[in-house]
Order: sequence, then structure tokens, then C-alpha cells
Amino acid sequence: MAARTGKAYIEGLQDGRRIYVNGELVRDVTQYPGYRGIANELAKHYDRHHEAGLAEKLTYASPKDEAPVSNSFLYVNDSTTLQQRIQGERLRCEHTYGLMGRLPDFMNAWVTDMARVPHVLGAKDPQFAQNAVDYYEYCRDQDICMTHTLLDPHVDRSKGPDAQQSLKIEKETSDGIIVSGARMLSTLAPVSDDLLVGPFMPRQKGEEAYAVAFAVPMATEGLSFIARETYDLERNDFDRPLTRRFDEGDAIAVFEHVLIPWPRVFVAGDIRAYNSLIVAFPGHLGLQAVIRGTEKLRFMTGLACKLATVNGRDKMPRYQEKLGELVGYIQIAEGMICAAGNELLRRVAATEEINGGTVDTTGVLTVKPGVHAFESFAGGAAMRQFFPYVNTLVCEVIRLIGSSGIVMTPTQADFENADIKDALSAYIGGPGMAASDKVRLQKLAWDAVATEFGSRQAHYEIFFSGDPYNGRMMQFNAPERARCEGLVDRLLEES
Ligand SMILES: Cc1cc2nc3c(=O)[nH]c(=O)nc-3n(C[C@H](O)[C@H](O)[C@H](O)COP(=O)(O)OP(=O)(O)OC[C@H]3O[C@@H](n4cnc5c(N)ncnc54)[C@H](O)[C@@H]3O)c2cc1C
Repeated sequence: MAARTGKAYIEGLQDGRRIYVNGELVRDVTQYPGYRGIANELAKHYDRHHEAGLAEKLTYASPKDEAPVSNSFLYVNDSTTLQQRIQGERLRCEHTYGLMGRLPDFMNAWVTDMARVPHVLGAKDPQFAQNAVDYYEYCRDQDICMTHTLLDPHVDRSKGPDAQQSLKIEKETSDGIIVSGARMLSTLAPVSDDLLVGPFMPRQKGEEAYAVAFAVPMATEGLSFIARETYDLERNDFDRPLTRRFDEGDAIAVFEHVLIPWPRVFVAGDIRAYNSLIVAFPGHLGLQAVIRGTEKLRFMTGLACKLATVNGRDKMPRYQEKLGELVGYIQIAEGMICAAGNELLRRVAATEEINGGTVDTTGVLTVKPGVHAFESFAGGAAMRQFFPYVNTLVCEVIRLIGSSGIVMTPTQADFENADIKDALSAYIGGPGMAASDKVRLQKLAWDAVATEFGSRQAHYEIFFSGDPYNGRMMQFNAPERARCEGLVDRLLEES
């Protein structure tokens, strides 16, 4: 099969899945008001893969049958495949303004990375590595829209996964594993086709039952989702231009004695494989995340700049300096795309070499004892540090430039009310701008940073790569620190 159309994607969602939201059980999400906007946005995403002039930039020939499939599944092996992948991912992020954390590209990159680390998954039984490759090919050729859930629920964080009622293996049968418990937090769950349960927090010895990774369709027997309230209340595009289109939804996945067939199991009780999987990824995922982060920064910076023009703040050095800083960060982010791409090439080469290498108990991959395969990972540092930082900054700049103007915004209905038409023009318009155009931009800014949608976006970027504390501790423990200290040692030795 080839890349899907929007129509095929929408039809695929009508599968009888169980989503509890806003106090009701929804079985057909395509008819549910809070999910229609995002489903429609994703349908447009799939249709673009068939559009003349775009299709060749977004697809490549499947190695299976030459049918055109999304190049977000393309294995990067050399600079040609790297550039093909970057071009496709950039375009898809541009179309969605970097506002979709679970644009299908994200999980497509996840399974692409997963399929390339057989030495991790297949150390105990090569079948698990084969399952990852088979699943990757299935997703690529059927164009499956996936989400993932990596975290234990929040019950008592001072204790281990048992106390969190986390998803665990109850028993193994000849057909597969039976699992029960919950996982959070799954963005896009209401409108995805498949859920991938994967690792994040390392498991300790004795927690084998919680060391599990697999994929299942959303409409699996015994699986239900409890979603957060929808932010899209189907207000018009003038009043909620982003919420209306990009509210992806988030949900907890609840499993009650669910059978996961063996062909879809990637890790079952193997703590080493579980703890090593993500750190061993060559970096298709990191590259996608850096591209999305860059496009979002570009959009948000553009919004800050346009907002400055609606009340003359673009003429004031105080705001110009802030906008200039943001533009500089975009240029740095572009450099990070190059770095993440080069690193991906290097790591792919190392991964091929490593397929006979070892993985230690902390999940650090070594080619030979004492040598770290992946000494640095710019894509990871960008995701964990740079983008959370600049995203928080750009939101703050938009608030500063918008000040009370982005609060005091009448609705579309007010602009249709003849009684206040003149007052709106006199007191809200300018400079040289119709009041409705100005307010439209101000409302866009409000939706980007301050509505429920905007606040969740800001929150999402902070936690996108996990607890910020963990990210910094990883850097503290990275080989780079020893290199820094080595420089000082050398100077001291020289003097
Ligand atoms: C808007 C949004 C969307 C998200 N979307 C997704 C998604 O699609 N898929 C997905 O998998 N995740 C998603 N996440 C989750 C995100 O990855 C986590 O928020 C992040 O990793 C931090 O973990 P936490 O929320 O559990 O916070 P916390 O519980 O505060 O975790 C922080 C710390 O708690 C400790 N901790 C973590 N787990 C345990 C445990 N089992 N037992 C004891 N201590 C523990 C660790 O020290 C950790 O560093 C999303 C989060 C947000 C805010």
C-alpha cells in the first residue's frame, strides 16, 4: 500500500475505539466536536502526500513494492537520504507551523530508529528485533498514524512503578503477553491508529514485569483511554485560530488483561533492552524534533514581529532588541539541524559497527570497552535544553509585546454588531490597519500563548524530552564534561 489519503485516514479512525472524554464514552471520534478539527488537519496532512508538486518532496519508493510512502520513514544512510528526509520533514512542519508535537513524522522517526537497533532488542531473542523491523515496515507501507505512551501514571512518585499502578506483564502465553495497568500521557491518542508503549524511566532489577514495549491498534479489546477535556469548543477561526485546528488531545491508556500478540512485542521483561532502547537510537527522532522546534520558533518569532507592528512597537529599540534575539536563535536552530543530521549519519555508521558491540547495564552503548559510541548528541541537547528555553522565551516576548492589547480583544460577533462598529475602528484599529485585522492578529497571539491551547503548548515544550532535571543530569554525566575539565587540566599542567 502507498501513502494514505485524508479520506482513508478518517475512515480508519471509525474503528470502535473507547475514548472517555468530557464525561462521555466516544466510539466515533470523527463525529466528536472536540476532535473534528485535529482529524481534519491530519486528513490535510495525508492528502498533501498526493498533491502535484508536493508528492515527490514528501514521499519515496517503498523498498517493498516501490509504492510512494512518506519519507518520514526513510532510512538515512548517506547525505542524499539525509537531505530527502530533511526536506520532507521541514515541509510537513511548515504546513503545521511546528505546532503538532505528534505530527505523524515524530512516531514515524521513532519506529525508524527502533528498527535500526537490533543489537539492543534482539540480544536475548532475535525475534524481538525482527518484530521491530516488521512493525516499522507495516507502519511505513500502511501509513499508520501512531502515538506513544512512555510514562507511569502519577500515583506516588516517591515509590517505584508498582505503586503507580503502572502497566505490567501479568503472564505470558503461547499467543503473546497479557498486560494490565495504565500508562500516560498519550498525545494524539483520540485520533491515532496505533499506540506504541515504550520505555523512558529506566527499570531496576526486580521490575522485569514493567520492562515492556509493544504496539497495538487503538481499538484493541480491553484497552480504553481517558482523555483530558477538549480545548476545541468549535469556536470560529477568528476567535480561536489555533485551538480550532491543532488541539491534539491527550489521554491515559488503561489496559485490562489485554493480549499483545508476540509479533507486536519488542521488549518483554528484558531490563537491559528496555533501558538501552532510546539511548541507542541513531537519531532520526532527534532530527525530526529539531526540525519541528525550528519551524515552531520561526512561526512564533514571526508572530512576535507582526504583533509588534500592530501598535508601533516595531519602531522601539526596546522591542527590536528582543525580536533580534529571537531571529538569532532561529539561525542557531538551523545550525542544530545540520548538527543533528551529521550526527545521525555518524551514529548510523556506528550502529552498523555496534551490531556486534555491547550494552552495559546503564544502557550506555560501547563499541569496545571504555569507548562510548556516541560521545555527543547535539539533537538530544537541543530537544532537552535549547528548545524548551527558546520556546519559553518567545512566549514571554509575545506577552511583553502584546501586553494588555492581546487581552482586550473583541470577538468576531462584536465586529458584526453595528452598534459598536465605529467605536471598534476608533479605539482598537491602527496604525494604518483595520480594527478587525489587528484584533485577528492579537487573537492569534493570545491563542498561541495564553488560551488553554497556548498554555498546554508551553507546558508541552518544557516536558517534551522528559523532566528538565533529568536532561541536565544526563549532560552532567556526559563524556563532554570530562573533555571540558581536560582543557583546564592541560592549562594547569602547562603553567
Ligand atoms: C502536554 C504534554 C504532552 C505529553 N505527551 C506525551 C506523549 O505523547 N507520550 C508520552 O509518553 N509522554 C508524554 N508526555 C509526558 C512527558 O514525557 C512527561 O511529562 C515528562 O517525561 C516528565 O514526566 P512526568 O510528567 O511523569 O513528571 P514527573 O513525575 O514529575 O517526573 C519527573 C520525575 O519523577 C520521577 N519519576 C518518573 N517516573 C517515575 C516512577 N515511575 N516512579 C518514581 N519516580 C518517577 C523521575 O525522577 C522523573 O525525573 C507529555 C507531557 C505533557 C506535559
